[in-house]
Amino acid sequence: MRAGKRVIFLCGRPLEECLNAIEQFHGWKAPGMVLGVFMVDWALERLPPGIEADAVVETRHCLPDAVQLFTPCTVGNGWMKVLNWDKFALSLFDRRKKNGFRVWFDLQKAQRVPELYQWFMRTVPKKGLPLETLLDRILEAGREVLSAGPVSMTDLYQRHKKSGIRVCPECGEAYAAAQGTICRSCNGKGYYRLEDDRDDASSSLVDPP
Ligand code: ZN
Repeated sequence: MRAGKRVIFLCGRPLEECLNAIEQFHGWKAPGMVLGVFMVDWALERLPPGIEADAVVETRHCLPDAVQLFTPCTVGNGWMKVLNWDKFALSLFDRRKKNGFRVWFDLQKAQRVPELYQWFMRTVPKKGLPLETLLDRILEAGREVLSAGPVSMTDLYQRHKKSGIRVCPECGEAYAAAQGTICRSCNGKGYYRLEDDRDDASSSLVDPP
């Protein structure tokens, strides 16, 4: 992979290390993840040093993993919110001052890199755009296919606090009191049907040899 002669640093790490980290964490060097590192890198660079930044990511695909891998923000610690908008964009912001930077994939700029544009708009079948080619284009382009700008947060800047908790009289599990007098699952709005009897600790889904 061509990455230039001098060592490029992204998010404070050498590029090669970033790419390896992506592969380990995400399973493969997904182009969206690689592009995501450039986006996180740009946003981090624009924030004053030492601030505790939270994140909003506007797609569920790839980008949340880039934020989780290259910033302290994760879904689990509540510092990152993920929107299902399918917009390839993210914001990192100072949650106290409610301002920060948004970085997005800029379609107009991307037209100068046809393979990236085609990949992003899904106008060419996957096998027509080999991964190596895509990664090369991304590494060559970097910020040239992105835009960034300062933003003031108007929403989503608050961290979710745990609300009241209640024990469900039907299943005996604790749940968010806001769901009502019985839990969502017992109210028929769950996502599963309990099969057979409950497991005890000694049984497992794996058949004995
Ligand atoms: Zn219940």
